[in-house]
Amino acid sequence: MDFDELKICSRCGSDACYSQEVTKNITIEMCYGCGFQSNSLMEKGSEFFNEQWETLPEIYKVLMDEEEETGKIWMPSTINIKDKGMVFATGKDRDNWAWGAVKVTKIKKKDRDKYNKEKYRADMTTIKYFKERDYMDALSYINVIP
Ligand SMILES: [Zn+2]
Repeated sequence: MDFDELKICSRCGSDACYSQEVTKNITIEMCYGCGFQSNSLMEKGSEFFNEQWETLPEIYKVLMDEEEETGKIWMPSTINIKDKGMVFATGKDRDNWAWGAVKVTKIKKKDRDKYNKEKYRADMTTIKYFKERDYMDALSYINVIP
């Protein structure tokens, strides 16, 4: 991660928003302050938007926000790193949700056939919940950041 690219998040105001210009027309923003992301392809009514919408978990739809002035859409990110774990939004509604962080456990060699030869599996007994603003703590819980 190149920290020169960090800027102020227009959603939460933290200074930990990582912005990446993928092409001239596509910019992706990922904020490590609030854990939300935006993608300039995400425009309401666009094909990309509709495709994403269909696969989104309900709570992601509930938490999705559109910036009034820019039309920029923010939604919770999902982190899934094979040998570390997952961080995802979970909950019922805007007042009752949290980041769920789950660590992985190494699968014993003799058991790997049961898991499509994967080396790791999510261990749901390790799930820990973090507030929106504690997104980075969730990332460090699964050892993605120190
Ligand atoms: Zn933010």
